[in-house]
Amino acid sequence: MSAEITSLAQLRAAEAACTRCPLYQDATQVVPGEGAAGARIMLVGEQPGDQEDLQGHPFVGPAGRVLDRALGDAGIARAETFVTNAVRHFKFEQRGKRRLHKKPNAYEIERCKWWLDIERALVKPQVVVAMGATAARSLLGRTVTIASMRGETFPLGDHARLAVTIHPSALLRIRDADDRERQYEGFVADLRRAAKLAHAA
Ligand code: SF4
Repeated sequence: MSAEITSLAQLRAAEAACTRCPLYQDATQVVPGEGAAGARIMLVGEQPGDQEDLQGHPFVGPAGRVLDRALGDAGIARAETFVTNAVRHFKFEQRGKRRLHKKPNAYEIERCKWWLDIERALVKPQVVVAMGATAARSLLGRTVTIASMRGETFPLGDHARLAVTIHPSALLRIRDADDRERQYEGFVADLRRAAKLAHAA
């Protein structure tokens, strides 16, 4: 952990001044992680979306609504978790008036991991849930497929274990209602498993 950052408030202030990669230049603001200090579960997404960028809070847009519903169905109070992202500034492509999400690249993920590592050291979760390939890439330092890692947990080098699942925004892109429901149930089951592990630790 950085010697100068010993609280989440200090971390937020440092992130707001970050220029470690170019993404701060076009985003509205940094979107720090939020949640209970000492949370047993940390949920890590990819990056803020359009709404998160405007509001300055993680998972407050459409994907956040899916996450909130899934947490509820898994019996997890969001207020007891810590919700964050692998990358803290919104990366997008302007198309007319719309800002279309663009995937962060390996360099941006790597540069922003600095903050995620400090955040993990401060919150000290028992279980870190990587939601999607970008979060898994950040936490493991290598490219992985979600399908190959789902249902298992992995040590993270500190006391925490890593669980991998889909990003809730993936559910918004599924057109077939039955498939979407099946995938949603799988997402809820992954969250439930993570909560069980977090409380068993
Ligand atoms: S995305 Fe992360 S590393 Fe890049 S400028 Fe923002 S906070 Fe810094």
